[in-house]
Amino acid sequence: MDAIKQSLYVIRALKKQNFEAFFVGGCVRDFLLKRETNDVDIATAANPYKVMDITKAKPTGLPYGTVSIQKDKLKIEITTYRRDGNYLDNRHPDEVIPVQTIEEDVKRRDFTINGLAMNDAYQIFDYVGGKEDLRLKIIRAIGNPDERFQEDSLRILRAAYFQSKLGFQIEKETRLSMAKNKDLILNLPNERVFTELIKLLKEPHQLNALKTLDTSGISTVLPGLDKGIRFVVENMKEPLFIDAFFGLCFSLNGSVPSAWKFSNIARLKYEKVVELVNRNQPLSNVDLFTQGLEIALLTNKVSFLLGKSSNQKRALEERFQQLPIKSALDLKLRGSDLISITNKKQGAWVSKAIDDMVIAVLENRVQNDYEALKAYVLQKEVKHEK
Ligand code: ATP
Ligand code: MG
Repeated sequence: MDAIKQSLYVIRALKKQNFEAFFVGGCVRDFLLKRETNDVDIATAANPYKVMDITKAKPTGLPYGTVSIQKDKLKIEITTYRRDGNYLDNRHPDEVIPVQTIEEDVKRRDFTINGLAMNDAYQIFDYVGGKEDLRLKIIRAIGNPDERFQEDSLRILRAAYFQSKLGFQIEKETRLSMAKNKDLILNLPNERVFTELIKLLKEPHQLNALKTLDTSGISTVLPGLDKGIRFVVENMKEPLFIDAFFGLCFSLNGSVPSAWKFSNIARLKYEKVVELVNRNQPLSNVDLFTQGLEIALLTNKVSFLLGKSSNQKRALEERFQQLPIKSALDLKLRGSDLISITNKKQGAWVSKAIDDMVIAVLENRVQNDYEALKAYVLQKEVKHEK
């Protein structure tokens, strides 16, 4: 609400120069729902150059008629009234066309609850039935849902995102149209799908949204996620953290699809978890040592969710703390010691012998102590020579 108050001056400054301006979109919805917003969108009749003159906004999306003001956490985006031209590829409008009225501007927006406008006196202007849908807690496409989803198929995922964020129901025609047009999601660049999916997963009504993805068949156009989403919908009572969600989905899928653009670190993490979960064996000290606590805990979580094992979280944390060594450098007998003890030349055998000591120490077959390790090494040598 503060965000709205702090942005009022922009609308007033434009008004003073005889340009109409309104709060629009998510910030009006959130204002009416008494929810926090950081991002404020303003629509105005003034062209972007006039807006920059009047408000000192910076050009951030001139091709779309958008200029912005960033003040600490608050971001104000001011966009000249527009509608979108044809969408040849179900995502980018080929051109944006200026329009004369706020009514035309809001009608190009996605859902009725995102199509409300509000002036500087907090009066609501509703050309799309958004107020009633807010009251009924309904997500409904503005206009013909098929046309709207065919223009921009990201809106299909956005509907599920708003469901996750607000806990609203999706209106029937809109829901049916989402299912009907789901394959158009395949035309979107993967990063945009990914971003929307992550947004959806971070909101409190995640399970409702995943249910929508499942029953509509949208999950089948999300690579490697459909089995996991079905499992979550059927078995979970609480939303999952992002890592647990992907760990579970990919473990059920058997691999991490290359379509998703994870960071290398995240990808390696999920690949390891898939391997360890599907190995169906308890995590050993050697696993804890080699994979580290994070991967061990995630493996444990996913195995537990899948009903493959009990929850070992505390035990794993303790075992990790108590590992006799955390790195090969912690061994009390070094590579140089190995060479002097055995009188052998430096070579590849040294690192093999170190690995062997590491495993022996982790498996508690030998103490991490110079004399014990020396005896262990020499005994191996003798065996070797025999
Ligand atoms: P959030 O709380 O996630 O920021 P929001 O409603 O503000 O939700 P934004 O993505 O910030 O969503 O977009 C701001 C507004 O722009 C929306 O409320 C909607 O009116 C319009 N909009 C955004 N994306 C689309 C789209 N793909 N199609 C049509 N209208 C859109
Ligand atoms: Mg927003």
